[in-house]
Amino acid sequence: MGFVKFLGTAGARYVVGKQLRYSAGTWIELAGTRLLLDPGPGTLLRCRRSRPPLDPEALDGLILTHKHLDHSTDVNVMLEVMAELGHKGKKGTLMAPRDCLEGGDPVVLRYVRRYPERIEIMEEGKAVEIQTVRITPVRHRHGDAETYGVILESPEGQLGFVVDTRFFPELLERYSGCDLLVLNVVRREPTPEIDHLSLPEATEIIREARPKLAVITHFGMTMLRAKPHELARKITEEMGIEVIAADDGLTIQADRWRR
Ligand SMILES: [Zn+2]
Repeated sequence: MGFVKFLGTAGARYVVGKQLRYSAGTWIELAGTRLLLDPGPGTLLRCRRSRPPLDPEALDGLILTHKHLDHSTDVNVMLEVMAELGHKGKKGTLMAPRDCLEGGDPVVLRYVRRYPERIEIMEEGKAVEIQTVRITPVRHRHGDAETYGVILESPEGQLGFVVDTRFFPELLERYSGCDLLVLNVVRREPTPEIDHLSLPEATEIIREARPKLAVITHFGMTMLRAKPHELARKITEEMGIEVIAADDGLTIQADRWRR
């Protein structure tokens, strides 16, 4: 059965730097296809330490939503492991925004680009298929970094990942129809000068999108201090949609989001 495993749930610089939560990515397994979203610091380590084990050599694709360090530092080593260790040759797909690959400061090193079979530059609405999963990027607004959320369609359901972004109204409709909706919620309260979602904004998206299950993750200090589990329980009670606050290592099986 498909599942999503949160190898890390850290959001802001402070939480990542102190490793108050791990900053590894999210493992997604859907209808036999294995993907990893946002390989931040410690992703390879958290895969290898995972119980039951998650083998990065078995990955079919890496999705990089934007170039910021907490999302991208392990992308190079993960590309190498995905292709070279078990397979010894080109393997897998990398999806990434253009500024991760081009311009003056690309985070994907040129010499590792020979490892994946395919590199897909993300564009708003341009779907890419990786085996059984169809992945559609949704353009976000997140400072200077070109950033995309993703919608994953598969025989095991439709999953939405609302990654780093400031709130804007189009988010409400773009993510409707997802069975599982995962949202990066860095801030407890809206902070206009910071391009991150706050809890009230994430709650509005969940209310409009009406997923079967929502997971909040990628927490900054203001969220951690406010106890994410209690906040999630309150939203669940108010809205009648189940909301879970992710912990490092949280695994959600597909039967939790199937309608
Ligand atoms: Zn970011």
